[in-house]
Amino acid sequence: MNTQEWSAGQPVRLDLDGLRGELAASPGAARLRSLDLGRVIEGDDALDELARAVAEFPRSCAGVVVLAAATPMTVADRDLQAEATEVLGRGFGVDWVTLGPPDGQVHADEATVAAACQAARGAGCVVTIGSGTITDIGKAAAGQGTPLVVVQTATSVNGYADPFSVLLHHGVKRTSPSRWPDTLLVDPAILCAAPAELNRAGVGDLVSMFTSTADWYLAGAVGADPSYDQAVARLSRRHGARLLALAASLAGGQDAEPGSSVMTSVGTGTAAEPLLGGSGGSSPPVSTGAEALPGGLVGSSPPVSSAAEALPWDPMGSSPWVSAGAEALSGGSGRSSPRASTAALGELARILTLSGIAMGVAGSTAPSSGMEHAISHLLEMTDTARGRHGSYHGTKVGVASIVAAATWAHVRRRIGEGALDRPARIPDPDQARDRISQAFTEIDASGAMAAECFADYARKLAVLAAGSDPLASLRKGWEGHNAALGEMLASPAELAAALGLAGLPVRFAALPDPVSDGEARWAVANCALLRNRFGVADLAMLLGCWEDDDVDEVLADAAVLAGQRSGHQR
Ligand SMILES: [Zn+2]
Repeated sequence: MNTQEWSAGQPVRLDLDGLRGELAASPGAARLRSLDLGRVIEGDDALDELARAVAEFPRSCAGVVVLAAATPMTVADRDLQAEATEVLGRGFGVDWVTLGPPDGQVHADEATVAAACQAARGAGCVVTIGSGTITDIGKAAAGQGTPLVVVQTATSVNGYADPFSVLLHHGVKRTSPSRWPDTLLVDPAILCAAPAELNRAGVGDLVSMFTSTADWYLAGAVGADPSYDQAVARLSRRHGARLLALAASLAGGQDAEPGSSVMTSVGTGTAAEPLLGGSGGSSPPVSTGAEALPGGLVGSSPPVSSAAEALPWDPMGSSPWVSAGAEALSGGSGRSSPRASTAALGELARILTLSGIAMGVAGSTAPSSGMEHAISHLLEMTDTARGRHGSYHGTKVGVASIVAAATWAHVRRRIGEGALDRPARIPDPDQARDRISQAFTEIDASGAMAAECFADYARKLAVLAAGSDPLASLRKGWEGHNAALGEMLASPAELAAALGLAGLPVRFAALPDPVSDGEARWAVANCALLRNRFGVADLAMLLGCWEDDDVDEVLADAAVLAGQRSGHQR
């Protein structure tokens, strides 16, 4: 990787064709899945392109099904549902399907997914308008043969541009293969209208890159995950410095240079030609996957250069969603600067898109989902089981990333003290089964959650027990592995600082929907038991350094950092 090329000062661009070429030329190309995200439409007024994006698919004449949550969405005083229905209704039959309860809190559970599948049956095109959960449901509901257009409404998660859906099975969050969207539509005006807190959650979801890529590398090194690919790990981790720089800019609230915009990046060639002789009028930049993608950066406004470091995140300059969670957040500058805020959100959306693409081509969420996500998933399962809304996914992932980074520091310290010189302690399956059922008994007395988790965990144990020594490769070349890990990891202090500057909480107890110390400890201690994915907590268990004292030590380390932050932020 050319680190110069991906410095903190360089705005992120999206060039799907360039990416395809880069991945095709990488050493592991033969193993990678194809990047089948057809097209990204981004830029101001991209929503105006919705009808044309849908009309690109001849089958759309059979009728368009729009999937959305009940949350009313207002963008610059315009009602998004009314507008989308009107625009689409000029050319197609439109069936607007509201998923989930009236309060808009949709869960991707079996019943909701079944309702979406039923609604999408026979549709000529499925459109999702919503955040991560709606998108995941839409990807699951629109079969492979049905065109899918995804309208991203917030920078909340990295799951818009990948072929997976996080769905609930018996109350347990599971990532299931679904499909890529054919078209991803990102209109910064829509992003700006989302609750600032929801948008910031995307920063939390993305800081996972500092620990998840290390977990994935580790899983590859111990032979637990053959999908590990260096080029994809680097793609996932590539914009880490930029992400931290953007996060820091939120607190400063500085304006970008006048006239600068990263959101005016457009495609080339046919971009301005009507794709379908549609509504005409002022067309926003559009590009196709086969031609130029927004990375082409042709157009009247050049991308910002170093000025983008100072892009503010100004929630005060945007209209909130009309929803319960739409309170303004602290930390904004208070000045109205929608253009600059738009640019920051647009760039964050691009990093999220690239993160999704990394998972998609890897055929696994592993590039972005390590220990920190396992902790967050456990907390989410607890919330669901107890009927609580819980904090946003990315907000929890951010806090959990600090703990995962502290776990990495703990494990590397123990290895430095000789932990790799001892025989591996592979957990006994029967003890693991008991431990898992104990862990879940409080939130699910039926035992279904525990059974679901153990079924997955047992597969991981079987792989670890198959060879003579699961730590053999680490013992042999620890120095090299440690150096490689060091390039991916950030210190817990760095993560806490970035999250704090972005106005995000750094302690579980400080989450908008606070998690008690006991619950947080439960999730951290048991996160390795959730699923068949090897991460740093599994390594800690093999090394014999994931006992109660170790968990307490890691949590104490993380709390110290959080305490240091709390003097400045929260
Ligand atoms: Zn996530």
